Amino acid sequence: MKISAIRPWIIQVPWSERQGGEGPFLTSDKKRELLYTQIDTDEGITGWGEVTTYPGVAGNRVVAHMIREVGDTLIGRDPSHIERIWHDNIRSMTYVGTRGAVSATASAIDIALWDIRGKVLDQPVHMLLGGPVRDKIGLYTHPPRTSDTVRAAADAVEVVESGHRALKIDPMMISIPEGPAHYIDGQISRKGMEDAWAMTAAVREAVGPSIELLIDAHGKYNVPTAIDLCRGLEESNIFWFEEPVPVESNHALQQVRDKINTKISVGERIFTRWEFIEIFEKGLADFIMPDITWTGGISELKKISTLAESYYIPVSPHGASGPINAMAAAQVIMSTPNFDKLETSRHDLSDFNKFIDEPLDIRDGDLYVSDRPGLGVNLLPDALKRFAIEGFAG
Ligand SMILES: [Mg+2]
Repeated sequence: MKISAIRPWIIQVPWSERQGGEGPFLTSDKKRELLYTQIDTDEGITGWGEVTTYPGVAGNRVVAHMIREVGDTLIGRDPSHIERIWHDNIRSMTYVGTRGAVSATASAIDIALWDIRGKVLDQPVHMLLGGPVRDKIGLYTHPPRTSDTVRAAADAVEVVESGHRALKIDPMMISIPEGPAHYIDGQISRKGMEDAWAMTAAVREAVGPSIELLIDAHGKYNVPTAIDLCRGLEESNIFWFEEPVPVESNHALQQVRDKINTKISVGERIFTRWEFIEIFEKGLADFIMPDITWTGGISELKKISTLAESYYIPVSPHGASGPINAMAAAQVIMSTPNFDKLETSRHDLSDFNKFIDEPLDIRDGDLYVSDRPGLGVNLLPDALKRFAIEGFAG
């Protein structure tokens, strides 16, 4: 069997989430932009990968171009040589860098190759990674964004009523917009901080004491700001404080770590196993949250998880995009002992059904992985054609 084509798709799907039309998630006409990879073989088996990135417009187009260029170099290769192709994709790019767009491109291709391998062997991918260690996967998710504290509390209750036992909010977004592009000085006003504490307290009050309440700082704060912010949030018994400082300085993370009591989770901006070593060696986080579509794919998430296991650190994969992201991570997690919970972009994922062949099986906040071969979910080419943007239609 040989790889016959590798093609990127950028689709914009009508999205029913009640949230603003700005920021990295939605286009101005309230569509969600997602980036997929299709790998075809000369024997008619197709694999799917996802690598949706942020900020939507520039990030997805950059990575889509890279998939196209790198993909052309892989035509004629044996799609079962997953490990070798991963190394070729990373090592051939070391002068460009081995993280970010490079590891994302490698991820998209790796996920699609595992999908093909599972389909060839008629096995779900987790059966090729050691088999199941669990029968379901606990999820956590987000309520819609709002600057209204009463609304935030009601939305959090809606998530809990869907059966989820954990949810995540960024209550600082009232004052500081979403996204790393907004980082200037790492500060937030005193009022912004107090508003964040008040929203967190209101959500805690609404959902009760036993729901895990996760706070995402989105890597936006300097050291003293992150410490002050977290000390106020701790009053609401938060479960973890995510990405308190920008990713570039583990020294800054260490300083925050030393001065707060809350558990820390990092990893959505940490790529490949090598970047996690210092996190483990210096004890900088209680949880790691690599994103399978950015950190290096199925091959790499499995290795990072095993590395974390040797330090007794649980893995809680990041996942804020589409169904291939969720199912690829789920396949790894099915075979991973040191798992905490898996992130999805919202509690109601039915918008995915506009372009996949079978809905994700989510019941009471748990994802069930079927014995369908490969990733267990396929994209519908006709739907992709309908939602694709010009220039990136496969
Ligand atoms: Mg995050």
